[in-house]
Amino acid sequence: MKEKMGTTGLIFNEPLLWEKGSPGRTGISLPRRDVDEAPLDKALTGDGPDFPDLSELDVVRHFTKLSQWNFGVDSGMYPLGSCTMKYNPKTNERQASLPGFAGAHPLLPERLSQGLLALMHDLAAYLGEITGLPAVTLQPSAGSQGELTGMLIFSAYHKHTGKPRSKVLIPDTAHGTNPASAALCGFKPVAVKSGPDGILVPEAVAALMDDDTAGIMITNPNTLGLFESNIRQVADIVHGKGGLVYGDGANMNAIMGVVNVGDLGVDVLHLNLHKTFSTPHGGGGPGAGPVCVTPALAPFLPVPRVVKDGEVFRLDENYPLSVGKLHAFYGNVGILIRAYSYILSLGKCLKQVSQYAVLNANYIKQRLKGDYHLPFDRPCMHECVFTDKFQQEHHVATLDIAKRLMDHGFHPPTIYFPLVVSGAIMIEPTESESKETLDQFIDAMQQIAREAKACPDCLHESPQFPKVRRLDETLAARSPCLKG
Ligand SMILES: *Cc1c(COP(=O)(O)O)cnc(C)c1O
Repeated sequence: MKEKMGTTGLIFNEPLLWEKGSPGRTGISLPRRDVDEAPLDKALTGDGPDFPDLSELDVVRHFTKLSQWNFGVDSGMYPLGSCTMKYNPKTNERQASLPGFAGAHPLLPERLSQGLLALMHDLAAYLGEITGLPAVTLQPSAGSQGELTGMLIFSAYHKHTGKPRSKVLIPDTAHGTNPASAALCGFKPVAVKSGPDGILVPEAVAALMDDDTAGIMITNPNTLGLFESNIRQVADIVHGKGGLVYGDGANMNAIMGVVNVGDLGVDVLHLNLHKTFSTPHGGGGPGAGPVCVTPALAPFLPVPRVVKDGEVFRLDENYPLSVGKLHAFYGNVGILIRAYSYILSLGKCLKQVSQYAVLNANYIKQRLKGDYHLPFDRPCMHECVFTDKFQQEHHVATLDIAKRLMDHGFHPPTIYFPLVVSGAIMIEPTESESKETLDQFIDAMQQIAREAKACPDCLHESPQFPKVRRLDETLAARSPCLKG
C-alpha cells in the first residue's frame, strides 16, 4: 500500500439547520385537505416550536456532511479495539434485522416465539462451551451488570451455605467496574497489589484471603493486556478458604477457543457480547453481558431461564434459590442474535479471532518498543501498553501523541488507562486489521516519536488537519457550548 492514510480530503463546512432553508419551505407534500381550516389555539401552542423550514435535500445534505466529519471503524483503524469498537461483520446486523426477529414482541406467547427461544437456548449452550462454564444466563445488559449478577450469586451462595461473608478481593489491575459492582452488592472491596511483572502474586492473595472473604474478582487478561498466568494457583488458594472466583471475561477476545476458563478455577464469568461477539459498542449501548457459571452455582442464576422440554422451548421461573430477575423480559435480544450469528458464521475459526488479535498486538509491541517505553516487556495478549516516558524528556505527553495520530488518519488509542501506569497508551489493534494497516500505524507512531525530539511544539499544536483542532478540554468540561 503506497497511499498513506490522510485527512486532507474534501470536508465541507456546514451551518446549523436553523441557518439553512427559508420560511415556508417544506420537505413533504401533504394531501389536499378535505375539512375546513381551523386556527390552532394560540393559548395552547404559544408561538409553536422553532423548527427550521427545510426541503428534503437540505436535510439529506446536512446530515450527510455531518456524517463525513466523523471517524468510525468503517473509515479507518480504531486502535481502541474490541473494548470499544472492533470491526463487526455486517452479516450479523443483517440477521438481527430479519423481520421475524426484529418484529418479535416480548409479550408473544411461548408457542409463537419458538425460534427466538431456540436461538437463546443454543446461544447459552455455545457460550457455555466456549468458556467451559456450562450454566448461562443471557439477561444482564452490560458487562458491569454481569458483574453485579456475579456478586449477587456470590452473596446468595454464601448465604445458602449458612456463612455470609463481607469482603471481596480485587487486584489493582482489575477493571474499575469490579470494585464498584462488589460495593453495590454490599461487599467491601479489598485491593490486591500485583507483582512487578504486572500479574497477581499468589502469596499476596494468600495473605489477604480469610473466612470473611467471599472470593476474588480477576480480570483476565488484566487491564495491562497480560494473562494472569498464576490464576489456577490463586483460585486454589481462594477455594481452599471456601471462597469463589469471579472472572471478568470482557476481554475474551484474547482467549476464545484457546483457554477453558472453567479449567482455570473460575466459578463465575461474564462476557461482553458487545465487545467480543459482534455488536458495535462505541455509542455506549445497548449491550449484553451474559454470565456463565459452574454447575454447582446454576441454582442461583437469574430467572426466567429458557428450557427445552422434548422439542418445545419454554421459559421457567421456578428456581427457588435464584437471585431473581435482572432485566425486563429476557435481556437485549438483538445483541444475542448478533452474537449467535457471529459464532455460527465463524464456527471453529473463533479460535483464530483470538490468535490474530494476540499476534497483531504483539507485532505492534515488538516494533514500537524501541520508540516508546514499554513498562512490562513480556508477551501481551490482545493489547499492549506503552507510556510517554521517553517523550516526556522533550515535554511531549501521551495526549500530544494521541492528538497527532489524528493527523495521520488514525483514531487515537485508549490513553491514561490503566491507571496503574502513568501516561499509559494502550493499543488494541484487534484481529481484523491487515499487516499493511498495522505497518502504516507503526510508521505513524514512529514518525511521531521522531517529531517529539525534533519539534515538540508541532505536537503540542496537533492535530492540524481534522475539522476540529485541539479543544480546550477544561473549558469544554466547565462551560460546554451545546449550540454549535
Ligand atoms: C468494558 C469492561 C467492563 C464493563 O463492561 P460494560 O459493558 O461497559 O459495563 C468490565 N470489565 C472489563 C475488563 C471491561 O473491558
